[in-house]
Amino acid sequence: MIYLDNSATTKPCQACIDTMLDLLSNDWGNPSSVHDLGIAAEHRLKQARSQVANALGAEENRVFFTSCGTEADNWAIFGAAERLGKRGKHIVTTAVEHHAVLHPMQKLEAKGFEVTYLQPDETGFVSVDALKAALRPDTILVSVMMVNNETGAVMPIADMIRATRRLSPLALFHTDAVQGFLKVPFKAKTLGADLISISGHKIHASKGVGALYIKPGLPLPAFIQGGGQEGNFRSGTENLPGICGFGAACADTDAAADIAKMTALRDLARKKLADIPGLQLIGRQEAPHIVNLSLPGLRSQGIINCLQSRGIYVSAGSACSKGHRSHVLESMHLAPAVIDGSVRVSFGRDNTEEDVDALHDALLEAIKTLKG
Ligand code: PLP
Repeated sequence: MIYLDNSATTKPCQACIDTMLDLLSNDWGNPSSVHDLGIAAEHRLKQARSQVANALGAEENRVFFTSCGTEADNWAIFGAAERLGKRGKHIVTTAVEHHAVLHPMQKLEAKGFEVTYLQPDETGFVSVDALKAALRPDTILVSVMMVNNETGAVMPIADMIRATRRLSPLALFHTDAVQGFLKVPFKAKTLGADLISISGHKIHASKGVGALYIKPGLPLPAFIQGGGQEGNFRSGTENLPGICGFGAACADTDAAADIAKMTALRDLARKKLADIPGLQLIGRQEAPHIVNLSLPGLRSQGIINCLQSRGIYVSAGSACSKGHRSHVLESMHLAPAVIDGSVRVSFGRDNTEEDVDALHDALLEAIKTLKG
């Protein structure tokens, strides 16, 4: 099997699997219990928080575990609206966000908020100038993703934060870094964002765990009410195996080496695939792991099926928007035939140059099969 769908999910690493098994078999206590088993579990929770914070470049006590990246996005957006909704009703986001951001925004619109959706250029990139033009004194939240999951566009988050502070001092800045964490170098402490969402299963941990970074001193309202876990910010008995697996996956990652490897594979793929007749590379493709390509005239699903028959796994646009034409590619004003023939290839640290060769040959074969 050649797995080239790492933006959808990654294979859990051995450190994550070993840690999760250990938690399920041994340290299975409730971290809130005050006996030995609970104290051991609490110790494991603390260690995991420290490992994730370390990878994120964050203060340890500002990482709050969630059930996924989607929950972290929802919490950031609804929390910001609840906290600042009395002072302003204007929110800025982009048209290329994941549905984990867009759907909460639509819900806020139905409740009377006004949301400006920044449009990307033809490469999927959203500029600081576009943000500056949209910012207002009554803007209470800006939410811009760090890396687009379909095009690999890397948004200028640090510059956008600076512009927001200047033009909309009231606003909180949230970035969905689900595709940026450990792919694009940044440190939560120095980036300046108020809120940062990340997800475990995109970095070789398991599904069912994510985290929200909340800047020191920011009193974001709790998202889930209950027993007061996560410092009263996010109640519910912690998913300790998932959380500790997330910590282990972070500790087991050499981000600089992984980024260098994925970047080399991305560049090799771009070069090799360019000689395939009719193939178009789509989008910015700055992130190290994402190459979006299109074979106009063919359908994504047909291409995916052909590649799968040769043991190669890729996806059509975003895995979360199954069956629908990608809102990201539509907002870039690509021709319908280009969108309908688009396939996202996303690399992980386990891929090799041979995988790129196999993809190249399989695409040529797919063209022959589908056209013939
Ligand atoms: N944000 C982005 C940019 C994503 O790519 C994804 C998942 O694909 C999510 C959010 C949702 O993360 P999760 O699957 O952990 O809910």
